[in-house]
Amino acid sequence: MKAQPRGSHYIGGSYAEDTDGRAFESHYPATGEVIARLHAATPALVDKAVAAARAAQPAWAALKGVERGRVLRRAADIIRARNAELSRIETLDTGKAIQETLVADASSAADALEYFGGIAGAITGEHIDLGSDFVYTRREALGVCAGIGAWNYPMQIAAWKAAPALACGNAFVFKPSEMTPLTALLLAEILTEAGLPDGVYNVVQGFGDVGGQLAGHPGIAKVSLTGSVPTGARVMAAAAPLIRPVTMELGGKSPILVFDDADLESAIGGAMLGNFYSTGQICSNGTRVFVQSGLHDRFLERLKARTETIRIGDPLDPETQMGPMVSRAQRDKVMGYVETGKNEGATLVTGGDAVQLQGFEGGNFIQPTVFSGVTDDMTIAREEIFGPVMSVLKFDDESEAIERANSTEFGLAAGVFTADLTRGHRVVARLEAGTTWINTYNLTPVEAPFGGVKRSGIGRENSRAAIEHYTRLKSVYVATGPVDSPY
Ligand code: NDP
Repeated sequence: MKAQPRGSHYIGGSYAEDTDGRAFESHYPATGEVIARLHAATPALVDKAVAAARAAQPAWAALKGVERGRVLRRAADIIRARNAELSRIETLDTGKAIQETLVADASSAADALEYFGGIAGAITGEHIDLGSDFVYTRREALGVCAGIGAWNYPMQIAAWKAAPALACGNAFVFKPSEMTPLTALLLAEILTEAGLPDGVYNVVQGFGDVGGQLAGHPGIAKVSLTGSVPTGARVMAAAAPLIRPVTMELGGKSPILVFDDADLESAIGGAMLGNFYSTGQICSNGTRVFVQSGLHDRFLERLKARTETIRIGDPLDPETQMGPMVSRAQRDKVMGYVETGKNEGATLVTGGDAVQLQGFEGGNFIQPTVFSGVTDDMTIAREEIFGPVMSVLKFDDESEAIERANSTEFGLAAGVFTADLTRGHRVVARLEAGTTWINTYNLTPVEAPFGGVKRSGIGRENSRAAIEHYTRLKSVYVATGPVDSPY
């Protein structure tokens, strides 16, 4: 299976290659097979991408918002028309089951382009009346924005960053994770086909050093990262000397609180979605599932039964519900956490083993895993695992659950399951998280702000809130009378 792109990078409206850059391969995580060979960008190539973006940006920003929006909406239509092909490539690059990529990856990239394309013409400043004088504000583009992505939702991450950036009149340079380099390039091709001027959206491949060069590049006006907390700290440090704004979408250890009165099957469905979708490789996953003591045992029994029906297998088979982990290293890391969970005294309810599948011997498969009897101090309850490992913790009363849920350095997401909606709102208000759900989990429509608090991040993606992060305000004071000067 091959998914070789026509070049490693996309600069100034066409593919680019520089074989001086470090060679790397993209592997199909289900087999280990090489699907593409690429080169990382050299520093000169990164400079070239930033220069192409800087050259293209003023004319793009000078268009009317509706004109920019039309290009983005056309790109959304092309993505939807090519969804099957794009989903297949995303599955080859990430290993995620095709039944997921068909509905959650390219299509959510299209949603972002459609949404921000739609509001591009409505990005306005305001008028502030001062009696006879007045002030108006201009909401201006920042310039060239950089995006750096993780490997779990490669095309979605590229589009969640590029769509609002472009709608606001910025140009963009994106660096995907080197593990999943392919669909950001296809997004570039599609934007060109949709009529995006050359140089407005560029892709450079590479490792952390390329991301670091972009984050600290004097030609970059802002950087948006989706990645881990340590990388977030490094990217912020790289942007700091230039005082550049950042958006940080980082990791989490999010809680789900299930009260005795919750609908049992919905709460289990939410907890499974919030732990096993994308083979557990989702930043907002609710990996600490606090279940009230009255429901706890029934919850565990049904959770075990439902988890054991999950179909692991060939990611390209539409019946498969769970594909492999993205890499052998990630699988080994997750297996290490499973061992730590056992050693620290958690009870393994189900799963816990790597899976060998006939015909997929080189794959990074792992069983969906549930631990019960987890206590707050255990490693698996404190650290982000980024794999299909759910920890179930028991609680007695509401205040105790909230306090324990909040006792983490992360604050990305949280969920509450209860039939008492008054309690639902009360509890959500006290949870320290940027993105929360009542009686569901992990739904992230483009219309809603998404992002974290505490060490999980800064800024918001999606929704009108993203516009604030890709524009700056200029305030214009207009005098209507003579200058009143003491001199
Ligand atoms: P990493 O933090 O390892 O990498 C993220 C990106 O940053 C990659 O493209 C990486 O390149 C790059 N990078 C690494 N070092 C640097 C550096 N010094 N300067 C600039 N860029 C750098 O994350 P993963 O790719 O492993 O993704 C998993 C993490 O992402 C998890 O913590 C997860 O929670 C988080 N995440 C957050 C989301 C959110 O929206 N909040 C969504 C999805 C994931 P390279 O890959 O080549 O090292």
